[in-house]
Amino acid sequence: MGWLIIGGTVIVVAVIAYFARDQIAADFVEIEKREASRPAPVPKKVAPVLDTSSGSPACPKCGGVQFKARRTVGQRFGIGAIGALTLPVSAGAGALVAAKGMKQRVQCVTCGRFYARIT
Ligand SMILES: [Zn+2]
Repeated sequence: MGWLIIGGTVIVVAVIAYFARDQIAADFVEIEKREASRPAPVPKKVAPVLDTSSGSPACPKCGGVQFKARRTVGQRFGIGAIGALTLPVSAGAGALVAAKGMKQRVQCVTCGRFYARIT
């Protein structure tokens, strides 16, 4: 009779796992929906605008004309965390949504000041 108990236990565990899996998947979909529907974060400070009056962008602070694209450490971490959270359901999709919502910035090579990306 022992095999009956073991067999029954295995079936019960399998059924629980099956429904739990659906519930976990639903939770992840819910998290993803919430992330997607959330408006893009509004920066607290308005990024300074580059001076383009002379035709090519120049740093209003130091007059430098060399810039490099940058993401802040916080932005990198945010993309990674959201990507890891949604990884089991949609690998990379969450990270993609997070990356889209974040504006890339440029940094003045000369003085290191950040500006909104030149468009
Ligand atoms: Zn500068």
